[in-house]
Amino acid sequence: MTTKYIFVTGGVVSSLGKGISASSIGKLLQARGLSVSMLKCDPYINVDPGTMNPFQHGEVYVTEDGAETDLDLGHYERFLNRDMHQANNFTAGKVYETVIARERRGDFLGTTVQVIPHITDEIKGRYRAAGKNADVAIIEIGGTVGDIESLPFLEAARQMGLEAGKDNVLYLHVTLVPYIRASEELKTKPTQHSVGKLREIGINPDIIVCRAERPISPEMKAKLSLFCSVPKESVIEAPDVESIYEVPLVFQKQGLDDQIIMLLRLRTHSKDLDSWNEVVRRLKHPKHRVVIALAGKYTDYKDAYKSVNEALVHGGAANEAKIDIRFLDTSAPDILKSLEDVHGILVPGGFGDRGIEGKIRVAQLARENKIPYFGLCLGLQIAVIEFSRNVLKLSGANSTEFDAKTRYPVIDLLPEQKAVKEMGATMRLGTYECAIKKGSLAYRAYGQASISERHRHRYEVNNKFRKLLDDAGLHASGLHAPKNLVEIVELEGHPWFLAVQFHPEFKSRPERPHPLFRDFVAAAVARAQSPSSARIPA
Ligand code: GLN
Repeated sequence: MTTKYIFVTGGVVSSLGKGISASSIGKLLQARGLSVSMLKCDPYINVDPGTMNPFQHGEVYVTEDGAETDLDLGHYERFLNRDMHQANNFTAGKVYETVIARERRGDFLGTTVQVIPHITDEIKGRYRAAGKNADVAIIEIGGTVGDIESLPFLEAARQMGLEAGKDNVLYLHVTLVPYIRASEELKTKPTQHSVGKLREIGINPDIIVCRAERPISPEMKAKLSLFCSVPKESVIEAPDVESIYEVPLVFQKQGLDDQIIMLLRLRTHSKDLDSWNEVVRRLKHPKHRVVIALAGKYTDYKDAYKSVNEALVHGGAANEAKIDIRFLDTSAPDILKSLEDVHGILVPGGFGDRGIEGKIRVAQLARENKIPYFGLCLGLQIAVIEFSRNVLKLSGANSTEFDAKTRYPVIDLLPEQKAVKEMGATMRLGTYECAIKKGSLAYRAYGQASISERHRHRYEVNNKFRKLLDDAGLHASGLHAPKNLVEIVELEGHPWFLAVQFHPEFKSRPERPHPLFRDFVAAAVARAQSPSSARIPA
């Protein structure tokens, strides 16, 4: 079997949604019966994004095998409904780390180690590894063409064209066609320049995907085709859409999948996008509307909670509900007021002590006012701290992450985490089994007693306090039995108060909404429909 490679590059500006374009193409080819593999290359020097601030890089996405990866892998999993792994994402740092380790070992004795061929060979090896056993490998090169950092990745992509042959490699360039309000027209010049830059490197794009706020006229397409030297049918429009899940359908309408299949001489089957069409239909025609307050730290930066947002959208679609996500300022003096028209509260994952007290207050308000509460990772730790302080009356109870000297360390490190010296890739990461108690909300959601979910944290519920918590009504309904770790807690006598030590958001997909997100949204819909319960007593 010959694997075909599609290289996706970006031009003009970043944040064009290259990841969504790559995922959408993957979805279309998968719908034609092809096996598709995805790869994201990040040109920065960090060995992985695990130590980076989400404010700079967006969310860190965790795979089944515990790799801390770029958030585009989340799009790949959601669109293709398939698990990604460690090998589906690598950085320049990882490439250099491998090559330098080999140099130290003596693998290149006698030679000068250089970007070409040593770094580019390592990159090509990883491109090929990603394509192994797949009909098509879609390789997204991070950054914008013209950046210094991405040059080795582009050079390796050029070499792949030479080595694998013309029918086996396709270059697709995602670019911006800006609208200039003053002259009321779209401009092709930035795209011409960015294609020019690609040609300098020796890559002629086969297909151009144009992000534009306004429709691109046939004349404009003809101009882009001429200047960029691609056939008119290969100039594809990517307009802004209501839901990202519409993008595959928008591409399909313009025959993008047919173009790719023809250029790469692929043999395919008839199209099957029924379940995807159904997802989009549900998203576009909601019957209910609910407001979910997100009590997170990065309120101004949407990408920091990408998977949480998407999982809420999926949970919404399962309930035919449109979700309005409202970022909650937990430092505001009157949080209660801002919760008046809220139907559910979600406390996502996080690190460090900033904003912790505000979140504890929010969890208390959710508990006392019977507002549906969903805690993810840090959101579980917050719920446990709040309950310990205000119900168990353990004054000053805390996590040792936020107060190393607390008298009541209800959240603490396990001995193995206390021994950790290096910060990179040393958290409790990836998939762990969880046994669920029958009769719990979690059991009702999952419909089974044994599940597995993805983790990314250092701290755990301190088992010394478990009996106290349980006796007072905060029950551990999910456990990782081999290490006796609390995975899920639930509050007795509350319509829906559930928190998990793992990150269910990473496993939610439009075609398979996560059961906990589905049930959390259902509880929010129920609240929205019963106005009496929605009123918060003054
Ligand atoms: N900071 C907490 C811990 O390390 C929670 C991490 C998270 O929410 N992902 O355990």
